[in-house]
Amino acid sequence: MKIQTIGVVGAGQMGQGIAQTCAASGLNVVLNDIDHAAIQRSLEGIAAAFERIVSKGKLSNSEASAIQARIDGGVALERLAACELVIEAVTEDVRNKQNILKQLDLIVEPDTIVATNTSSVSVTKLGATISNPGRFIGLHFFNPVPVMELVEVIRGAHTSDATFNTTVAFAKRIGKTPIDVKNSPGFAVNRILVPMINEAICILHEGLASAEDIDAGMRLGANHPIGPLALADLIGLDTVLAIMEVLSRDFNDPKYRPAPLLRELVDAGSLGRKTRRGFYAY
Ligand code: NAD
Repeated sequence: MKIQTIGVVGAGQMGQGIAQTCAASGLNVVLNDIDHAAIQRSLEGIAAAFERIVSKGKLSNSEASAIQARIDGGVALERLAACELVIEAVTEDVRNKQNILKQLDLIVEPDTIVATNTSSVSVTKLGATISNPGRFIGLHFFNPVPVMELVEVIRGAHTSDATFNTTVAFAKRIGKTPIDVKNSPGFAVNRILVPMINEAICILHEGLASAEDIDAGMRLGANHPIGPLALADLIGLDTVLAIMEVLSRDFNDPKYRPAPLLRELVDAGSLGRKTRRGFYAY
């Protein structure tokens, strides 16, 4: 199947990055969100990113304008009808995702590939909400999408080989390196990464070291490019908590218990960079 028009549902930090990356690779993008302001913020964020790229001399003004003109933002889900691939990137909440997938099922063509960018939720479970789960797949990008090379490609129980192969080819076409991961809570990367972040939050809560020293420890001692608490702020503390809750519930193993301080910060509305407050102030 030839993919030329991509739909992205959810214009948050991930949707914005996915839209930018796809448009920069020559694809047309329909960017959707229930919140008009989120679409505006995303389009402005993309414009600012291209301004930086142009100022570094990596693209001309007219090339940057042509890329941005390929992104069409709007709140009406019906605009996704003509897409060959739709990527769901709404908030990490199972019910919300199932809801949006049911609505999408009524709008897109029967052979449209529907992908989820979920960080942790079962691809099989989400796929069960659409009429033909053979065309449903997990396509897990990393943040910030234009920079991070990896995508995890996750088959649900019913994902067809054709869907898998088309999705892998799509990932390569937009410059990403796909890895093939079986469906399991948190897949491969977040199963390793997010419990490590959770442990860093426990260490902070126990007063063993300051946030700055915990982050310096992992940067200088484990050669991580960014410390776990700064990374949590980048991911979004609500998303980190949602992933820990999925790991905890689906494995039913106390080793995945979310750190109480993480829950406290989310309850307080301190979600990291996106609210300008998390483990650090922005
Ligand atoms: P975000 O909070 O920045 O954005 C979520 C967006 O979804 C918001 O703009 C919200 O208005 C929109 N939304 C919510 N419900 C909607 C609906 N029913 N219809 C349309 N739009 C809706 O979140 P994010 O960080 O962009 O995460 C989005 C998804 O990507 C989550 O599933 C998350 O787990 C996953 N993800 C996040 C990261 C990360 O580092 N943040 C990395 C990989 C995957």
